[in-house]
Amino acid sequence: MALPRHAAHRRLTVLTAVAALAAGAATAPAHASVQKSPVAAGYGGAVASVDADATAAGIEVLRKGGNAVDAAVATAAALGVTEPYSAGIGGGGYFVYYNARTHKVSTLDGRERAPLSATKDLFLEKGKPIGFADAVTSGLSVGTPGTPATWDTALRSWGSRPLAQVLRPAERLARDGFTVDATFRQQTADNQARFKDFPATARIFLPGGKPPAVGSTLKNPDLARTYALLAEQGVDAVYHGAVGRDLVRTVRKPPVDPASHRLARPGDLTAKDLAAYRIEQQAPTRVTYRGLDVYGMAPSSSGGTTMGEALNILEHGNLRKADQATYLHRYIEASRIAFADRNRWVGDPAQENVPEKGLLSKKFADSRACLVKDDKVLTSPLAPGDPRRPAPCGTRAGTPAPTPYEGQQTTHLTVADKWGNVVAYTLTLEQTGGSGITVPGRGFLLNNELTDFSFTPVTPGVHDPNLPGPGKRPRSSMSPTIVLDHGRPAFALGSPGGATIITTVLQTFLDHVDRGMPLVDAIAAPRASQRNAARTELEPGLWNSPLRARLEARGHAFALNPEIGAATGVQRLPDGRWLAAAEKVRRGGGSAMVVRPSGPSH
Ligand code: GLU
Repeated sequence: MALPRHAAHRRLTVLTAVAALAAGAATAPAHASVQKSPVAAGYGGAVASVDADATAAGIEVLRKGGNAVDAAVATAAALGVTEPYSAGIGGGGYFVYYNARTHKVSTLDGRERAPLSATKDLFLEKGKPIGFADAVTSGLSVGTPGTPATWDTALRSWGSRPLAQVLRPAERLARDGFTVDATFRQQTADNQARFKDFPATARIFLPGGKPPAVGSTLKNPDLARTYALLAEQGVDAVYHGAVGRDLVRTVRKPPVDPASHRLARPGDLTAKDLAAYRIEQQAPTRVTYRGLDVYGMAPSSSGGTTMGEALNILEHGNLRKADQATYLHRYIEASRIAFADRNRWVGDPAQENVPEKGLLSKKFADSRACLVKDDKVLTSPLAPGDPRRPAPCGTRAGTPAPTPYEGQQTTHLTVADKWGNVVAYTLTLEQTGGSGITVPGRGFLLNNELTDFSFTPVTPGVHDPNLPGPGKRPRSSMSPTIVLDHGRPAFALGSPGGATIITTVLQTFLDHVDRGMPLVDAIAAPRASQRNAARTELEPGLWNSPLRARLEARGHAFALNPEIGAATGVQRLPDGRWLAAAEKVRRGGGSAMVVRPSGPSH
């Protein structure tokens, strides 16, 4: 579930030898811990993630000659061990890749899909939507996982190492264990009430019936064996084999403790759904912004179109020259408008007519930018525009649609290699801990991604492109982003945070590009998030700042959000080094490493 993790500290690394080598040490004592750093610069490639063990796994692959794609899969697989509540083979995600040889940006849509039997009434009983929490912890919310296929497709398309090799660091980590930190313990405690109802989940994550103690070592031998099986059989083990059979059985009859009173509804996922799963390789979204090319994820994620539209709107004023309050005002208003349009128009393009080109067009942005006034605040929920037929300023194209709730937990990693290839990859189970259901004996949790669908139309009587459907992908907000400057990578970025992902990536982009902040400071800066709601959410850094009163004087209304997002990024420095950047404080701080550190960090 979405929970603040302000005072938490991330686990210390156990892959210490690798990390110490990354820091330039010749040798390192086994199981010593290294200090995590939110920023690193140097040569040979760079990795940034929320977790030191996972970042070290990627660095290990780069050091052994693997490329950015190999390292991204290794990092993601390690996150499946140390961030098992956000990442793992029971979930899905979006992979954006810059190929230094072809200078092209490609994407993989590894989003979970609804069962082929699903209808728009998936979450209705007797015509009424079931409770959100009931839907989350059930087989009903489990979509066909896309993460194993994402890893496989990425490696086959652009990797240089076999899956078996890049899974090795993660397999080792699952077998030998990682050191539990306060964040992990807290996330487990927050989930204890439901985890305890599923013996397969409790056995791994509630050792002795309790959340594991900070400083203890948590092992997941089941997951180590699953990774070993994938190494041997490939991802067919999931889509056509034994792991898949177990997965289907688990979804169809969630293995609830007989002593518990929990009603975990079954889902209708079948072997046919697994066999039919396909990765989509659609073109990335692209907008230009002040000479930069910004590439993002096309629908089924709303990330690329929403951020793209907001940037097109913001190009109308020079944010470099604006004072801080005006900058924040315009950023908030552009987000509000872009979300109004997102909510009306974006769904799975395989089943919905999504006007992607229109949403990204400068002409449409022109018709929306004219709504932004420096001395006035727009009223939410704001009505959408019609990107198919951009109309004169302010013409309504329909009834306003508010932004539905999305979980606020997933994980993002960013990688670059010495050849100049770049990966931005966001993966998720949806809520922290997904459905709460572990596939018995396999060591991984199942997603609850299908709760990203609207259960009923957000605006009664108006077509909602995000209703469930057979084999349909729920709309996402994940926004892995790669920015090119004259065809060469400038930086790449992404974040968790449900619908706040889009505003986090947008604000970090603007802080870096327009406000001149070093990437690591842009990532650390206090955030605001407006998603076509009456109130804009502010982190404490802005809530407690005099800027709030200045914005309130213009008509803004705010709500406090203790923590928004947890971004990571990489940047190509002018001298040819790579810089990796992660959070300084949020979620206890992230982990940035390079293969060969050198010089000042930023
Ligand atoms: N389910 C969310 C999405 O696809 C991601 C979950 C999160 O960030 O918490 O956008």
